[in-house]
Amino acid sequence: MAKLKPAIVEGRPQRGKFLIFGAPRFFKAELTEMLDTIRSGWWGTGPKVAQFESDFARYAHTAHAVGVNSATAAMHLGLDILGVGPGDEVITTPLTFVSTANVIEHVGAKVVFADVDRTTGNIDPVEIGKKITKKTRAIIPVDLYGRPADYGAIMKLARKHKLYVIEDAAHATESWYKGKKVGSIADLTAFSFYVTKNVATGEGGMLTTNNKSWADKVRVRRLHGLSADAWKRYSAEGYQPYEGVYPGYKYNMMDIQASLGIHQLKRAEKNLKIRNRYWKKYTSAFKKLDGVIPPAADEVKTVHARHLYAINLELEKLKIGRNKFIDALKAENIGAGIHFTALHLHKFYKDKYGFKKGDFPHAEWIGERTVSLPFYPHMSEKDVEDVIAAVTKIVNFYRK
Ligand SMILES: *Cc1c(COP(=O)(O)O)cnc(C)c1O
Repeated sequence: MAKLKPAIVEGRPQRGKFLIFGAPRFFKAELTEMLDTIRSGWWGTGPKVAQFESDFARYAHTAHAVGVNSATAAMHLGLDILGVGPGDEVITTPLTFVSTANVIEHVGAKVVFADVDRTTGNIDPVEIGKKITKKTRAIIPVDLYGRPADYGAIMKLARKHKLYVIEDAAHATESWYKGKKVGSIADLTAFSFYVTKNVATGEGGMLTTNNKSWADKVRVRRLHGLSADAWKRYSAEGYQPYEGVYPGYKYNMMDIQASLGIHQLKRAEKNLKIRNRYWKKYTSAFKKLDGVIPPAADEVKTVHARHLYAINLELEKLKIGRNKFIDALKAENIGAGIHFTALHLHKFYKDKYGFKKGDFPHAEWIGERTVSLPFYPHMSEKDVEDVIAAVTKIVNFYRK
């Protein structure tokens, strides 16, 4: 049988219309709520943020949820209120978005990477164990693509060595680990509502915890470090302006953002069901395709949030590299992404810490092979079939 020619070598593109890699889904409820907020004149942090926080706390099975303007801000605040700083070490994964490590730099602590498990891409607790020293104060695991990290082992290590766990759940709003909802497992959990995430507010994030004094601190520090209840404490003496009790940050969430979040969150489970269907469709096709490795099966008693559908290319079997593969998909009129290239080889971390190729072989292996395919609830079945057909055509054409 003659091989189908990919569009990148003058074949016919799989689709006429470009299928973008990702875009937020919204309905009239978001627009109505936004309009209501804008007309109310209260655009900043107000009643809608409070509502989104209480909705989210209930959803995440946690006592406290504090709205902020990004997951990055949430993680930074987490390290800040725990007092992690210069002289301290924080362990995280090299297979993540840059900001997971950047926040460790922001507080002046040392970034210590622990390699990942090659089949899941999540941080390997055995590798964490090897990196713990007297200076280690915290661990920041990432729930890669929506798959919860191994919290059984991670929380055990953390308790044994008296370390804090700040979970980067930017991909994991809907995830559960062994009967526990993500948001209620780690000491502090950071969520992202960035425009590409499952629940989107454009920019936005949430920090959850069951510790009231931490939540109170986060509330003060997310908004300049102003003592929010100063007027209550001094009320007997009449009106008193707020006072700065800490040099805090400008990390608050706005009611405009919360207007989107309130309705996005309500639809999270429904959207997950659709992505579950597309996940199965992709996986049953790619299991049979020699040259690509589909995502590993789910762990028992866990819920994967199905944020990103990432395949690994078996480069040894192909005549092209990963970046050329993405160019070929684009020629078929299909967008794709990379999540992620190993962070220890990014300029800043390589230069500052002297990391080199070979230091974290599993993260590097995935970082060289990973391709994220379009994966969102408002794709059609036909869109999913187009992606499968295009990937199949390209892999078959370039297989050695
Ligand atoms: C998106 C993302 C972040 C950053 O989220 P923001 O809300 O944009 O700050 C952090 N970690 C991971 C793994 C992400 O994918």
